Amino acid sequence: MIKWLKMMVGRQEPEVVAPRISVYSLQEIYAEMNAKYFGGAVKVKIEWSKRLVGRARAYRRLGSYYPEKKLIRVNPLLDNADFPPYFISYIVYHEMLHHVYPPFRKGGRWHIHHATFKKKEKEFEEYALAKQWEKNNKKMFF
Ligand SMILES: [Zn+2]
Repeated sequence: MIKWLKMMVGRQEPEVVAPRISVYSLQEIYAEMNAKYFGGAVKVKIEWSKRLVGRARAYRRLGSYYPEKKLIRVNPLLDNADFPPYFISYIVYHEMLHHVYPPFRKGGRWHIHHATFKKKEKEFEEYALAKQWEKNNKKMFF
């Protein structure tokens, strides 16, 4: 009986979960980039990646694209008002380009950020601004 009671009490304890306050909506940014640069033609999924703790945080990749899942994942580190909106947009745009201009193999090696990719990347309106901001704020990623 006591054991059962303890179980019941235990079950009533709420799980402590830190409130998840979102600064940026990836869906909105993605829709905006899609309309502005791709004529709305890109059809991929987008989500925040899981928050990393401990040693896994040592290297923070800001965005990833998984072609087999047609999925973009963005580091939740960026869901922070310390990052300017154009920087989040730039990361999303960059990952969308990986979908539209996939890597190819030539001369025995993979070309990921190839010439076409880089040319398209520079079409991002705040490209210079985003690159400069990235350079000035590297400490925020590592
Ligand atoms: Zn890339």
